[in-house]
Amino acid sequence: MRYSGFTLISQALRGHTGWRPAWREASPKSTYDVLIIGGGGHGLATAHYLASRHGINNVAVIEKGYIGSGNVGRNTTIIRSNYLLPGNTPFYELSMKLWEGLEQELNYNAMVSQRGVLNLFHSDSQGDAFARRANAMRLAGVDAELMNLEQVRTMLPFLDYKTGRFPIRGGLLQRRGGTARHDAVAWGYARAADSRGVDIVQNCEVTGIAVTDGRVTGVETTRGQIKAKKVALAVAGNSSRTAAMAGMRLPIESHVLQAFVSEGLKPLIDCVLTFGAGHFYVSQSDKGGLVFGGNIDGYNSYAQRGNLPIIEDVMEAAMALWPALGRVRLLRHWGGIMDMSMDGSPIIDHAPVQGLYVNAGWCYGGFKATPASGFCFAHLIAKDEPHPVAAAYRLDRFATGRLLDERGVGAHPSLQ
Ligand SMILES: Cc1cc2nc3c(=O)[nH]c(=O)nc-3n(C[C@H](O)[C@H](O)[C@H](O)COP(=O)(O)OP(=O)(O)OC[C@H]3O[C@@H](n4cnc5c(N)ncnc54)[C@H](O)[C@@H]3O)c2cc1C
Repeated sequence: MRYSGFTLISQALRGHTGWRPAWREASPKSTYDVLIIGGGGHGLATAHYLASRHGINNVAVIEKGYIGSGNVGRNTTIIRSNYLLPGNTPFYELSMKLWEGLEQELNYNAMVSQRGVLNLFHSDSQGDAFARRANAMRLAGVDAELMNLEQVRTMLPFLDYKTGRFPIRGGLLQRRGGTARHDAVAWGYARAADSRGVDIVQNCEVTGIAVTDGRVTGVETTRGQIKAKKVALAVAGNSSRTAAMAGMRLPIESHVLQAFVSEGLKPLIDCVLTFGAGHFYVSQSDKGGLVFGGNIDGYNSYAQRGNLPIIEDVMEAAMALWPALGRVRLLRHWGGIMDMSMDGSPIIDHAPVQGLYVNAGWCYGGFKATPASGFCFAHLIAKDEPHPVAAAYRLDRFATGRLLDERGVGAHPSLQ
């Protein structure tokens, strides 16, 4: 079924009785060409690009919960490509370009909103670093604008420009950055992959990875054994646990990251804003709630819930930047498990086990990467060679020391 204004009107005239489920409730078959573990954004995007770009559709996505129950449905929805290092910039820019055409490609409203991402700076040295980043972005063909204090004040008059504890000096604006509706991204990819024959199997946990003579042969699940020629891990916060099923130890720690939403307010802020003197980022949802977040919890955990010290920490940063927020009521908060790699950059690579592929280490930033991650992971699985823009995301960089230490990705576990 194609979604359009015409479909909507014709369904309305028929009392909305003709809508069909967006994807089938598939039961696992005994064997697949490619089996993807994890029905988050990255797993579903990989399935879509395997089927649409490489004609590989004997594919299953195995999800232990329901589609969108992981980080893809828990994040603060920020998308951007304002990276500095050559190993990252082309990858995230590919992602941004895929976001720009995503709704047409998937025939699904993912509410991609290019409302701009503004990173504030608060000192001369931070301003210099942002100027360097802006120049690097422009050299790589990515849009970037350095804003002075007056330009920021005109754009966001309600911030604290007076007290001087963390004086705002300016900002780096990427106008093409913004937000997308997180769970709709998962649903859109699921629907598109399903329409090309991919089986999306929900409520099915992978409990073991079968390896014979150094080659993967399939997986054990709570719904029985499934054979597969290739197995791809895309389980985000559970990467270490799942890789351990194949005898691997990943350079990843799992931490909880929390997000918060306020009561609904009238339109206040029309961009994504990040505070440069503390870890705080905020945007406003279409329903009016301020959606914001901060730092990861300071200890390793697989619990999908947060703790009180981080709430205090995030609120302090919020108040330092935007004191009027003290009058706003917090509606709810939640947590997701982050797979924090040791250099803050992701992994898209073969595993040492033949036929096993790893997509992991997305830290804070995996939502914006969803389209390019799926695109490049599908390329790797289909062709057995890395996509050129993801060539730096090798697993062996942690052994060779060729780390991709990008400051723009947020805090590293090693800095906690
Ligand atoms: C609070 C918060 C805010 C964030 N904000 C942003 C942001 O603003 N911008 C941004 O770019 N990124 C952000 N992120 C990060 C981003 O959400 C993640 O990096 C990204 O979603 C991870 O990829 P995914 O969507 O595939 O993960 P997930 O949705 O977590 O998918 C992994 C799936 O694997 C499944 N799984 C795990 N183990 C098994 C198993 N054994 N068998 C079967 N299935 C299994 C899980 O149930 C899960 O559904 C944020 C994350 C959080 C938690």
